[in-house]
Amino acid sequence: MNSDLRVRPWNSIPIRLGLGVLLISLAAFALTLSILARQEEQQFTAAHLASAHKIAAVTVADLADQMMAGGGTAVWRAVSARTVLRAQLTGAAPILVLNQDGVVKAGSDSALVGTRLATRGNAACPACDSARAQDFPASAIVSTAQGARQLRVVNLIPVTPACQSCHGADAPLRGYVTIDFDLSALDSSIAQRRLSVLLVSLLAGLAMLALVALLFRRLVMRPIHALMGSLQDLAGGDLGARTLVQGRNELSLLTRDFNHMAARIEEQVARIASAHTESALLYTLVVEASKNLEMSDFATGVARVVLDKLHASYSAFFLEASDGGWICASAGTPRQEVLARGEDSLETALLSDTAQMQQLLDGIPAQFVATACRSQKLQFTGAAGELTFALPVLAETRLVGLLLCVGVAQATRVDEELLTNLAAHLTLAAVNSRNYTGAITDGLTRLKNKRYGLARLEEAVYAARRYKSGLALAMCDIDHFKRVNDNHGHQAGDAVLKEVCRRIVACIRKADIAVRYGGEEFLLILPEADANSLSVIGETLRRAVAAAPVDLGAVGGSLPITLSVGIAAFHADSDSADALIARADRALYRAKESGRNRVELDP
Ligand code: GH3
Ligand code: MG
Ligand code: MG
Repeated sequence: MNSDLRVRPWNSIPIRLGLGVLLISLAAFALTLSILARQEEQQFTAAHLASAHKIAAVTVADLADQMMAGGGTAVWRAVSARTVLRAQLTGAAPILVLNQDGVVKAGSDSALVGTRLATRGNAACPACDSARAQDFPASAIVSTAQGARQLRVVNLIPVTPACQSCHGADAPLRGYVTIDFDLSALDSSIAQRRLSVLLVSLLAGLAMLALVALLFRRLVMRPIHALMGSLQDLAGGDLGARTLVQGRNELSLLTRDFNHMAARIEEQVARIASAHTESALLYTLVVEASKNLEMSDFATGVARVVLDKLHASYSAFFLEASDGGWICASAGTPRQEVLARGEDSLETALLSDTAQMQQLLDGIPAQFVATACRSQKLQFTGAAGELTFALPVLAETRLVGLLLCVGVAQATRVDEELLTNLAAHLTLAAVNSRNYTGAITDGLTRLKNKRYGLARLEEAVYAARRYKSGLALAMCDIDHFKRVNDNHGHQAGDAVLKEVCRRIVACIRKADIAVRYGGEEFLLILPEADANSLSVIGETLRRAVAAAPVDLGAVGGSLPITLSVGIAAFHADSDSADALIARADRALYRAKESGRNRVELDP
């Protein structure tokens, strides 16, 4: 993967989402916590206010009782003793009794007696400013010298008729009772609670995070990773990359659409590849067909091109020959290039199960090819990703050829349309090739005819002069051939002609051209022939014909036949095609004159 495209951890969606979830859950729990703490404090204050009120009322009643017994220091001491008692009973401390100026007159803490609490503008003495009965009891949170928090409840000491009876109706006798409740227990409980809420919220946040992560992984990240993998495979050229569609959510739809898109791409690429294979194949075949009009060359070219372009292991191209027989060029395993021919009609040959045919079909059941011939329809068979097909080539309804192809690689994407187009091109080329071959071939001997031979000789002379290459011309004539006709009939003569030509062709190279020049006279154009080997070439020909008696075919029996050969080497500075023929002809004449069954040279 390209490092620029790698997802950094802080950009990763799950990590950002996880952090968000954690922060939100922590904030939510912190808010809950503060609301809980505030509620708790309010409840605590409300609960203590009631008891403070009662304590204040009792203290005031005590004070009044003591006052009835007489004023002075003894009274305040007795009140102090009562506040100590109350403080012990209620746990509130200190409980102080203040006069209207805030001077502590009595209290549970004797050290505070005589000190003063400001009653004006002092938050630690709530409601003392107004001193109206309806504002009491009032409460406030105050801090001790040690910094501990206390809830202070202040109550007004009412002026009762009993007070007024001694101090007079107008006496402004009023005072305050302050009762302090220690909040340290509450504070530590709140702190503890805060800690546990914090821990719980942290755990809950983590649990939620884990749950969200799990769900996110299952529902989002896993399908996204699968999709990313397939996308990368697709981008890397694996057109078969697909992702399993799971569930019915948005990502499932996305995955389904991806699969659909990948399938479309694969289809289009296959179509393009098929079109490319087709155009490359057809183009090469057209070039091959126009380059090699002669049937055996054409068939060899087709077999080779098909093997190469379709990445097959073996190909064989059967064609109806111009003389009514058939030829077959094959390429690939098990042999390299082979050119076979036979006398039967193409269809008869293909329907037969001869050893020659079995070899050419390369192990393909004869039935497969026979079905293609009979039905005149393309036959497919495929195994282990490889394809074998037999494609009949038809001129109208006549079978003029059959292309057999074995082990075509599946990746080549051969389809019926491609092969149908191929068959159409092959039909045209096969008919042209057959007509052309018929026009340049001698029907009896299958050698090239004189017109074609002379044209090729002109080319060979031109090339030899241009490239300063060797060239020789052999003129061959069957000895006393007239006697064969005279003694055994023309049919026997024809059989001898055919067999002699077969023996001659077997001796020459592929690049040499054998021409039927006259009745029983043959011209051999021998390009690149070495001047020193001319006698060897001539002797080889002569011996091949004389080696064994020649079968007279349907007539029966056999005859010893001999050949006279005259060979001339080409002289670039002086020779023309005609001059070369004349010199070879003179050499042949010398061979005849010297007793026949001989080779004469004009070096
Ligand atoms: P030489 O040794 O001097 O060449 O004697 P030859 O008898 O072979 O030569 P000649 O030219 O006298 O005879 C050639 C014969 O070949 C004459 C002709 O009837 C025969 N001939 C030519 N074309 C064919 C053919 O296509 N078929 C048959 N059967 N005979 C042919
Ligand atoms: Mg002759
Ligand atoms: Mg002759």
